[in-house]
Amino acid sequence: MERVLAKRLEEVVDALVKGKLKFHEAGIVLGSENAGALARRLALEKMYGVSLSSIGSTILDFDELVGRNIENPIGAVQVPVGVAGPLRIEGDYARGDYYIPLATTEGALVASVNRGAKAITLSGGARTKILFDGMSRAPAIWTPSIVEAVRLVKWVEEHFNDIKREAESTTRHGKLKRVDAFHVGNIVWLRFVFETGDAMGMNMVTIAVDKAVKWIVDNFPGNARVVSLSGNMCVDKKPSYLNMVFGRGKTVVAEAIVKRDIVEEVLKTKPEQIDFVNRVKNLLGSARAGSLSYNAHYANIIAAIFIATGQDVAQVVESSMGYTWTEVRNGDLYISVTLPSLEVGTVGGGTRLPTQREALALLGVAGGGDPPGINAKKFAEIVAATVLAGELSLLAALASGDLAEAHKRLGRGGCCGGAVERA
Ligand code: NAP
Repeated sequence: MERVLAKRLEEVVDALVKGKLKFHEAGIVLGSENAGALARRLALEKMYGVSLSSIGSTILDFDELVGRNIENPIGAVQVPVGVAGPLRIEGDYARGDYYIPLATTEGALVASVNRGAKAITLSGGARTKILFDGMSRAPAIWTPSIVEAVRLVKWVEEHFNDIKREAESTTRHGKLKRVDAFHVGNIVWLRFVFETGDAMGMNMVTIAVDKAVKWIVDNFPGNARVVSLSGNMCVDKKPSYLNMVFGRGKTVVAEAIVKRDIVEEVLKTKPEQIDFVNRVKNLLGSARAGSLSYNAHYANIIAAIFIATGQDVAQVVESSMGYTWTEVRNGDLYISVTLPSLEVGTVGGGTRLPTQREALALLGVAGGGDPPGINAKKFAEIVAATVLAGELSLLAALASGDLAEAHKRLGRGGCCGGAVERA
């Protein structure tokens, strides 16, 4: 039996190499997506004279993932995961001490966040709040004139309840909150905003808006047609002021007051110096550069958490935009981070993958919450508090002039055990 299977695999590999079989057909003809992944890998090894054995070494079950998370799989890449913590959080949803999984290859990042977490925790913890929750999709709609465009928008306002019914018929958790209209001449964007429970919600909302907008153009007593279901005013995976002003996903804030002696002992600098670096670098430097974002390195922390926990990594673009604010208060340091557009979920997408799910479980947020939505909100607060820790530590490193030294130590193989504590 085994010999028959090996022979069949060999035939499929040969057909792939010769171009007689398409790559996506390998799993179908072998009756298993895991066998298909092996066949594609072996074929590529032959075609390009490379070894893909490390990529092939994975616990993933492609029979589970094809059709949901990946096409044409050949294996997996591994990214190291470190933890930073404990980080104390006193949020509305996240309350307690957390070890945060960070997947990165940037030496010094985990150590830096760890140091920030230590300073915040010793000072009593980070406070967090969610100010807004809503995932958006904005189809672009053509009408023949500005008159018809205005008529359409008025009609949509009058029929909000019908539109909501249509949209919500596609999902148990998606709830339509509002539809905002934007005009350019005869073109209209209808920006639909939903609460999406514990899902980040992009698929959920896209499916719901497709149904709703078809109902609109079918029933509107006028002339309107959908140009594109996604009209770029959503705004997904692109930097934009729109997301910064209106929010997308979750708008989250986190703050802490770090005591002066802790700034001095743990961060090796002074509150005044951190405050000055923040104003010159994050505020003035970002303004001078015309940056959309006024922070030191939210993207570092967001990307590492997103990879570890199965978020859509391309959404680091808008999720990592935001503002860091500092003040010196009675000699202590006040610091806050504001993330207008943090897009996270604990169900759906990559969150179902085994390693990513374990990382979410470590934070106590794997899967759907009871009631739905509380896991994603708790997770969003944890992410914001971790960004606060990372921002605090980097500003301190810049204030004390230790940034290059830390990267020399931790990013160039310069040291080993104890690195986290020393950093
Ligand atoms: P999803 O896996 O497509 O949808 C979430 C699913 O989980 C729904 O079937 C939902 O059911 C169900 N669910 C069960 N318990 C839930 C709970 N407690 N809260 C919320 N939902 C619950 O995930 P998604 O977040 O909508 O989409 C994420 C995926 O979209 C990612 O893979 C991302 O890469 C991709 N993406 C898609 C687009 C696009 O345009 N389509 C754009 C960017 C990213 P109900 O729907 O019945 O509630």
